[in-house]
Amino acid sequence: MSGRLVVIGGGQAAFALVAKLRALQDTRPITVIAAEACLPYQRPPLSKKYLLREMSLDRLLYRPEAWYAEHGIDIRLSTTVTRVDRRASEVTLSDGSRLAYETLAFATGATPRRLPASIGGDLEGVYVVRDFRDADRLAEEMKPGRRVLVIGGGYIGLEAAAVARSCGLEVTVIEMADRILQRVASAATSAIVREIHRSHGVDIRERMGLHRLIGEGGQVTAAELSDGSVIPLDVVIVGIGVAANDALAHDAGLETSNGILVDSHGRTSDPAIFAIGDCAVLPWQGMRIRLESVQNAVDQAEAIAAILAGGSAPYDPNPWFWSDQYDVKLQIAGFGLGHDETLVRPGQREGSVSVWYFRQGKLIAVDAINDAKAYVTGKKLLEAGATPDPALLADPQVDLKSLLV
Ligand SMILES: Cc1cc2nc3c(=O)[nH]c(=O)nc-3n(C[C@H](O)[C@H](O)[C@H](O)COP(=O)(O)OP(=O)(O)OC[C@H]3O[C@@H](n4cnc5c(N)ncnc54)[C@H](O)[C@@H]3O)c2cc1C
Repeated sequence: MSGRLVVIGGGQAAFALVAKLRALQDTRPITVIAAEACLPYQRPPLSKKYLLREMSLDRLLYRPEAWYAEHGIDIRLSTTVTRVDRRASEVTLSDGSRLAYETLAFATGATPRRLPASIGGDLEGVYVVRDFRDADRLAEEMKPGRRVLVIGGGYIGLEAAAVARSCGLEVTVIEMADRILQRVASAATSAIVREIHRSHGVDIRERMGLHRLIGEGGQVTAAELSDGSVIPLDVVIVGIGVAANDALAHDAGLETSNGILVDSHGRTSDPAIFAIGDCAVLPWQGMRIRLESVQNAVDQAEAIAAILAGGSAPYDPNPWFWSDQYDVKLQIAGFGLGHDETLVRPGQREGSVSVWYFRQGKLIAVDAINDAKAYVTGKKLLEAGATPDPALLADPQVDLKSLLV
């Protein structure tokens, strides 16, 4: 292959794509255009060990700088693609130069939603967590006795709440929906996670929105909540979800709808252009989904690398995810969307438990809380498309291994 691959974005998916291509002995010229000033790095620790200052930036990098040169990968940091000209097969860069491609891959990720300035979203002391600079700034605020309000009870908000509590801050979490994790987990899992936070002293308020943030001299000092109460605070962490970075693709005339639409081979509506990772909307089991996870970024990128290198196997995700909060490891296999039943199975150790999700009698996901055995078994069952007998599953005396067929 001789034509250049240009990758837009320098995150998890971009790295996985170029690393896999080179592992497959694909020698085409590759240029990665990366907006951030840092070589590709892992994001998950940003709301976990990196925020706790237990990990350095060096340890987040997938590979050192020399690796890119050794593998003939031209990576341009602090540079963005500002326009895609599909007729000329060229991209325009932030320095005004143009670069020709034969194949183009969008790996542009997602951007956290922010609070509007009209309700105080632009005050000092209000943070989101997406890149290492966000985490560096927030880490400075992690001082005992300070008061933090976390807006949004999703995984990133709850992980940041756990870090803040571990650092001795007073933590309040507000969630507008009926329960934390409502978008991504069952009521049973929400209840377990809520209890974990409450036992650590976090004040979790569900069905509670934010009316506005209040500031003094440009610094956030309090929040007025939807019930009219006012709580004094020093720091706000906004974890209200992300929006796919699809504007560039949309402007180039590609099909987008809360992300860049791709087929099961990762192709957009232009066959020379692919989209991978958080920015891509893919077909799955009759639905169109966007997965925001390391699993999807890596597996989809590697599947597309294999296709570019001459393969033809479609990408069929086996979703998995994890979250670390305090000393609790939550591992999720499958995708619980549309579940109509759940079953809670106590684990063998204190504090270990798993929640099994079913749709029309079929196992579709498992959340394992400090229960690696349940996670591994659930993952294997899901990969085999098997559903265990619920009566056996619910019985803690039955060895999970015996459910594997
Ligand atoms: C704090 C945090 C914790 C997380 N924890 C977990 C976890 O525990 N488990 C899990 O599975 N997943 C977790 N995730 C999600 C996971 O990190 C993402 O799903 C993954 O990083 C997606 O990879 P990506 O390459 O699609 O996007 P990203 O890693 O976001 O990379 C996209 C890159 O593209 C750049 N870019 C965008 N537009 C342009 C442009 N026009 N030109 C050039 N560059 C551009 C962006 O600046 C960014 O650097 C977490 C994410 C965050 C933020």
